[in-house]
Amino acid sequence: MRAQSLIFPRMRARDLLHPRPEGLYCPPGGFFIDPVRPVDRALVTHGHSDHARAGHGAVLATRETLDIMALRYGADFAGSTQAAPLGETLPLGGVSVTFHPAGHVLGSAQIAVEHGGMRIVASGDYKRRADSTCQPFEPVACDVFITEATFGLPVFRHPPDRQEIARLLKSVGQFPESAHLVGAYALGKAQRVMRLLREAGFDRPIHIHGALAKLSAYYQSRGIDLGELRPATLEPGGKGDFAGAIVIGPPSAFADRWSRRFPDPIGCYASGWMRIRQRAKQLGVELPLIISDHSDWDELTATIHETGASEVWVTHGREEALVRWCELAGIAARPLHLVGYEDEGD
Ligand SMILES: [Zn+2]
Repeated sequence: MRAQSLIFPRMRARDLLHPRPEGLYCPPGGFFIDPVRPVDRALVTHGHSDHARAGHGAVLATRETLDIMALRYGADFAGSTQAAPLGETLPLGGVSVTFHPAGHVLGSAQIAVEHGGMRIVASGDYKRRADSTCQPFEPVACDVFITEATFGLPVFRHPPDRQEIARLLKSVGQFPESAHLVGAYALGKAQRVMRLLREAGFDRPIHIHGALAKLSAYYQSRGIDLGELRPATLEPGGKGDFAGAIVIGPPSAFADRWSRRFPDPIGCYASGWMRIRQRAKQLGVELPLIISDHSDWDELTATIHETGASEVWVTHGREEALVRWCELAGIAARPLHLVGYEDEGD
């Protein structure tokens, strides 16, 4: 089976899946994966807005991803929807597709596409470290592994997330009169920070910006215990209510006047980009927390080895370094130069 694919690896793989302006296209299956423009049939890896867009004819995704899309875009976000249970192989046109967990955010999946003895895995966004808000990434043996490269440079090595949360809690203890404002993306990162706080023993209410309310309630409805969440609503003259509080909101909220109403606010930001001090400084972040929902360099390279893929396609991020690493490791690799993926959940 695999021997056949080795004779014409590139030819065969490209016939099964190749980039088009709309996204990755599968001609024998008649579908796109994570298309950035409206198409007839879309397979969606996860709910981040750069991967999951409204306006497709039909969408196949995990139950959670479909629910998240409905929460964000309204129930009529697609002509029709079908839930893909993880690990179940579904026939689609002339090919077989199977969704496997990706460990990125709730509902995130890799999509394995199989046809004529060739298996390609499109992993979407993924990470390898433990995250109690979603199912862990599952390595899938394949001929071609399609990987992101958001943090595809050796300089990116994420520290343990517990260590980062401990720094936040230490600051909360040191500055009891301040409100700690934590910027975190609304889907995934925010809920992961909440869980990490709970796991570290923080049992006081966590205050949240309105933009996080629906998604956090959805996580809770799926059995992910985020503890008591309270709206971070500011009454006139009520600054004192937030002394010592942890307030979580989308990063954009902390750039506007909303954040200045909290008492002696300390700006924090949970993102893999906080590894770059310059970036933290530019954003005015006082307490950068290096917490990422993407793989770091070691996770990317280890995962490529684990899949046993003889060929790797790199979709978005720092493609060149990872392509070069593959070549040095004797693995054929190429960048796909897909556009439209903005790392919503970095
Ligand atoms: Zn994502």
